[in-house]
Amino acid sequence: MYQYRVEQLQKDAPDFDRSLAAIEEARSKKTAQYIGEGAVFLLLILVGAVFVYRATRRQFVLSRQQQNFMMAITHELKTPIAIARLNLETLQKRRLEEAQQQKLIANTLQEANRLNALTNNVLVASQLETGAYTLNRQNVNLSRIASEALTELQNRYPHRQVHAHITPELTILAEDTLMQLLVSNLLDNAVKYSPKETPISLTLTVQGNHVVLQVTDEGIGIPADEKKRIFDKFYRVGSEATRTAKGTGLGLYISKRIVQDCKGTISVTDNAPKGSIFTVYFAKWQGA
Ligand code: ADP
Repeated sequence: MYQYRVEQLQKDAPDFDRSLAAIEEARSKKTAQYIGEGAVFLLLILVGAVFVYRATRRQFVLSRQQQNFMMAITHELKTPIAIARLNLETLQKRRLEEAQQQKLIANTLQEANRLNALTNNVLVASQLETGAYTLNRQNVNLSRIASEALTELQNRYPHRQVHAHITPELTILAEDTLMQLLVSNLLDNAVKYSPKETPISLTLTVQGNHVVLQVTDEGIGIPADEKKRIFDKFYRVGSEATRTAKGTGLGLYISKRIVQDCKGTISVTDNAPKGSIFTVYFAKWQGA
């Protein structure tokens, strides 16, 4: 185009130089415009590529976590079923002494409770995810829930040392079932991630206008850079190979969702000299 317009100019015309300069100026403006447009276009493509890369990566990580989750959950479901089945078969086939019978029954009940907790977690997680869970908040006596969870823990682990300090009649605005799930998730983790011979503590106290629930253990603890991530869905510290305790990575994710839905906060800090302290703050029910 530039060539054509130059050729069209009369070389001996009086305004040849001016016209040529104008054509050249127009040409350099166009060139600058094309470069500018090209750069913007390239930038947009690059930004788009970064977004696509990030989304793909996120999807990849999530699908890997989901795969691990499916493996973990299959194991978690199969183990209690296998144990309960074996216990029941033994009870059916053999004449056992009363004490032995009671032991097998207690063990079967314990496994059934584990199954119950696990299915509750999975159910609540999927309901929270799809928005199908309609929160029905009422006055909940957290002291009663904490005491019940403690009794259940002591039934399941009669030899475990548990320190408890539960202030009576502390009420918050929440949902009964979800609070049970929260307390049992925290207690289960304290048991799972600490040696059998170390104590666990559960306290429920009042601080100003807040009800404070704390579960403390003297176990393996949680590295500083993992403290935030353990509340993510399916997240488990370490690799599959190094993990000895079985789990799904759902418990704390659900716990955090439950606490947030009740306008509370949950956090984890180090216990001294070893272990972790999970602290949950709720607004205290002030009465109608
Ligand atoms: P799960 O226990 O099923 O793996 P959670 O969501 O309950 O899933 O916990 C996520 C991760 O946080 C666990 O896999 C574990 O690595 C870490 N964790 C949770 N509670 C404790 C604890 N009391 N002590 C040490 N690590 C813990």
